[in-house]
Formats: sequence, C-alpha cells, structure tokens
Amino acid sequence: MPSENNISSNLSVIRDQIEDTRQNSNMSSEEVCLVAVSKTKPVEAVIEAYVAGQRVFGENKVQEAQVKFSDLGQKRDDIELHLIGPLQTNKVKEAVQTFDVIQTVDRPKLVKALSKEITKQDRHPKLFIQVNTGEEEQKAGVLPKDLSELLDLCEAEGLKVSGLMCIPPVEEEPSLHFSFLSELAKKNGLDSLSMGMSSDYELAVRFGATHVRVGSSIFGEREYSK
Ligand SMILES: *Cc1c(COP(=O)(O)O)cnc(C)c1O
Repeated sequence: MPSENNISSNLSVIRDQIEDTRQNSNMSSEEVCLVAVSKTKPVEAVIEAYVAGQRVFGENKVQEAQVKFSDLGQKRDDIELHLIGPLQTNKVKEAVQTFDVIQTVDRPKLVKALSKEITKQDRHPKLFIQVNTGEEEQKAGVLPKDLSELLDLCEAEGLKVSGLMCIPPVEEEPSLHFSFLSELAKKNGLDSLSMGMSSDYELAVRFGATHVRVGSSIFGEREYSK
C-alpha cells in the first residue's frame, strides 16, 4: 500500500511501472509524463516529491494551488503545474497566472474567457480539452459530439489545443474510454492524451496516454476526496 511516509519510494515504483508498461505495449506513447496530483496535501509533500526529482504536479482547485505553490520560492521556476479540476470563468484570471497547463477546457464560455485573459497577460498555458466520454450528467467535460465545434472555436479564438483529457465513469471499464479518447485525439490531429489515475494508470499507458494523473498512490490516501 502507498504510504504518506514513502513519497520518494512510491514515485520510483510508479515511474518503473510506467516505463515497463510503456516498453511492453505497442500502442504506448514514446514518453509518458507523470503528473503528481497533490490536491489536499500540504506543501511539505510537494517538496518531498520535488526532492525525489518530481517536477510536474496537478491540482484541482485554483486557490489551493495558488497558495500551496507560492510557498516554493525558486523551486517554483522548474515546476510545471497542471489544473485538473473544473474551471469557473470567474477564476480564469488566477488560473492563467498560476498554471502552466490547463487540462479542463470544456465549454465555449470558458474558451472565450481564456482567450481574452491569455492575450491580456501574454501568458500561454498549454491547453487540453476535457471530454465527458461517459456522457455523465454531473461530470465536467465537453460531450464527444460537441468536441469538433469546440476545437473550431479554440482555433477562431487563437488558442492552440495540445490534447484531450478524460475521467472515465467509476463503474465502467476504463479501457473503453481510453481507447475512445485516443481515437478522438487521432481524428482531430491532437498529440497529447491525459488519462489514467492511481487505479488505472498502467492501463492508460497501454492505450497511449502521454500524461497520467496519479495522486493517492504517490502521496497516500486523501482525508476527503476532491
Ligand atoms: C484527484 C484526481 C486524480 C488523482 O486521483 P488518484 O486516484 O488519487 O490517483 C486524477 N485526476 C483528476 C481529475 C483528479 O481530480
């Protein structure tokens, strides 16, 4: 079991598993970026992972990330910070200031707000579109049928999209969603695929993930979810 006290060894186990899986799959990407999801965890945990060589982190809340990652001084300069939670348009300003990658672009209103703010700040986070592959009502993400229209809007607004992200429904076989997301990316000429979490990152790598988002297997269980 992953433990809070073993961030460094958890990381090395996961890195090895990712690399093994990558080498043994013919659909896998040439490189897989491990995004260490530090939501709800203290800055000390981030520092421990940093000392163990981890440079890419994910957070799901704008304000929590702002506070946590402002404490890191010089280390902040070589960290790549990803937003993996839903983004409200009233937080777009802070999100563009804080994140290097925004994985959760999912609707026209947000695309327009991001475009405006990115131009204003002249700061250009990488953008992923979150796709609601399970078409779940309560879940964020653009519906698959609306993806190409949203991509057209991004282009019209001058925003470059790097890839797609999904969170499969908990009760469904994730591989179906991973292969579907991979097809959608191919169809739309996008290179990056963010998929796979603690329970299924190896499966995601097998299906071509370029980014896996792993939290509890690195940092231990969270006290409350989200
Ligand atoms: C919390 C979270 C993760 C990490 O989940 P674990 O199961 O702890 O690895 C990944 N992606 C998103 C979008 C999350 O909110």
